[in-house]
Amino acid sequence: MQTHTHSETCGCLGRRATLGVALAGLASLATPAAAEIPTRAARKGALTEAQRNALTPDETLRLVLEGNARFVGGVRTPVDYLAQQRQSATEGQHPAAVFLTCVDSRAPVEVICDLGIGDAFNARVAGNVVNDDILGSMEFATAAAGAKLVMVMGHTKCGAVAGAIDNVRLGNLTLLLARFGNAIAATPYEGDKSGKNYDYVDKVAATQVRQTITLIRERSPVLRDLEQQGKIRIVGSMYDLKTGRVNLLSEA
Ligand SMILES: [Zn+2]
Repeated sequence: MQTHTHSETCGCLGRRATLGVALAGLASLATPAAAEIPTRAARKGALTEAQRNALTPDETLRLVLEGNARFVGGVRTPVDYLAQQRQSATEGQHPAAVFLTCVDSRAPVEVICDLGIGDAFNARVAGNVVNDDILGSMEFATAAAGAKLVMVMGHTKCGAVAGAIDNVRLGNLTLLLARFGNAIAATPYEGDKSGKNYDYVDKVAATQVRQTITLIRERSPVLRDLEQQGKIRIVGSMYDLKTGRVNLLSEA
């Protein structure tokens, strides 16, 4: 954890802002490098509509990954959450991204990507599986509310994936875990194919994220069209519990 108070001139990564603040820089400054050093005043507020609209999908992704880099470096941005809460409550929300993440308590995307209030929508469900309700939520977040990035984020050592591999049966969880059948079947592996082998579990989890991206494109013409028009990006990632890093997944 950082131990010093950031000043206007201290120049450390801690001066860089959450997604909402960084957006202010992108909207008003000429170069990306300058955008990473927003003013102290700009940092206090939530993301405005103009700031969010000025972002491209690629810039949104970059800001999310930069936020994760700050988290890994232990230099998360000091945020005035109450100021963000007050501004977003009175002026509305204008998030730049929508995430689909696991319920795992160790993987809160707002924390691990150094996001503030109003920066992002986040759908959480064990194993970050998609269903019609989540697709509808993603369609709202992008087509109606203007988010530029859809990120499906799995994570290492996922208990839901391990439970699915071990064919755990428990009430309603049984049906949820059954959704991992295709990912398990599509993950070739030499060695211990049990939920105790996290090397295998992590590979299945990555397959599941890729399959979820495919499902999103297949089952949501709204999101597919937005992506084809270049208005959004849809990406998959894996959060490494051990290193704290969010690693983008290749499409293949
Ligand atoms: Zn999980």
